[in-house]
Amino acid sequence: MSTAVQLARDTAPPLAAAAIAKALLAWYDRAHRDLPWRAAPGVTGDPYGVWLSEIMLQQTTVKAVIPYYYAFLKRWPKVQDLAQASRDDVMSAWAGLGYYSRARNLHDCAKTVAGALDGNFPSELAALQKLPGVGPYTAAAIASIAFDKRAMPVDGNVERVVARLASVETPLPAAKPELKLLAETLTPKSRNGDFAQAMMDLGATVCTPRRPSCMICPLKDLCRARKEDIAATLPRRSPKPERPLRHGVAFVAISERGEILLRLRPDKGLLGGMIEVPSTDWSETWLPAEEALRLAPVKGRWFPMPGAVAHTFTHFRLGLMVFRAHVRNDPALTLWARQKDCRWVHRDALASEALPSVMRKVIAHALDDLK
Ligand code: SF4
Repeated sequence: MSTAVQLARDTAPPLAAAAIAKALLAWYDRAHRDLPWRAAPGVTGDPYGVWLSEIMLQQTTVKAVIPYYYAFLKRWPKVQDLAQASRDDVMSAWAGLGYYSRARNLHDCAKTVAGALDGNFPSELAALQKLPGVGPYTAAAIASIAFDKRAMPVDGNVERVVARLASVETPLPAAKPELKLLAETLTPKSRNGDFAQAMMDLGATVCTPRRPSCMICPLKDLCRARKEDIAATLPRRSPKPERPLRHGVAFVAISERGEILLRLRPDKGLLGGMIEVPSTDWSETWLPAEEALRLAPVKGRWFPMPGAVAHTFTHFRLGLMVFRAHVRNDPALTLWARQKDCRWVHRDALASEALPSVMRKVIAHALDDLK
């Protein structure tokens, strides 16, 4: 623990943890959100459903996750079913949710649980964190929600609630260790899963980022930021550095039959294991067009589409120039494609491919004038 965090803990009066837990749990009993992966208050959740939802919810909204959650459970009702699925099927079912390393880890984790762990998720934090794709937050969520262990998952919502309850003015990300410790001091001795979900719900529906609804908050009499009238300004944040810009070229080859050449990306790295149209590496500057054309996947009359495709990833922005070519249905090309992790897929069948959003944008851009 840093000296600053220790100092903050030593000098601030402790939060009224028992009163906060009591008020928050009473509010949760009457006002909790009904979510498909949720058990009723007082009941622990199914570990498979809790784990699946928590992986999907990483960096993703509840609204976006719900249809994917239902689709996964319908297709793979148990962890053993998911473990037996093919990697391609899992990646395709995940397409559109983003952050695709989660899907690879999800599949690897299902195989570990169904195999070495005999179908049972572990209940202890340390064992949970050994599973692929399960970090400290997800481990704490599974331990508390599915097994009622004393653990506190701390995400942005919980950080915000705690920063306001304790009126922590240290900016994020420096305040993270302090907020985590404070959140852990609030965890009650029982109903841990309900308490964790109550904190999530309060952050999502009442203690919202810009305009917290303090007047209807069950913790309003216990909240320091509300008393100091600074709730909406917390948590403070250090200014973010601007995302760097990268550039690349994508090649959309269309056959006479209306098929598009797709390629499987390597398993590791950004968008690993996903499908793409063949593209160059992404670099700091644009490749000159002549140089880019030397990297085209097949011979043909490649011509540039007007404009470019812009996409924003977490850590950088990407600009893609798009070239298109119409090519003959040549059996040699099909053979070549198979050897290069490529295949031809009809444009009407693209919906079921594990194409990330950026590649769907590229294809839409390339086909815009052929609608
Ligand atoms: Fe958040 Fe306001 Fe409730 Fe404090 S009183 S926890 S700032 S909603």
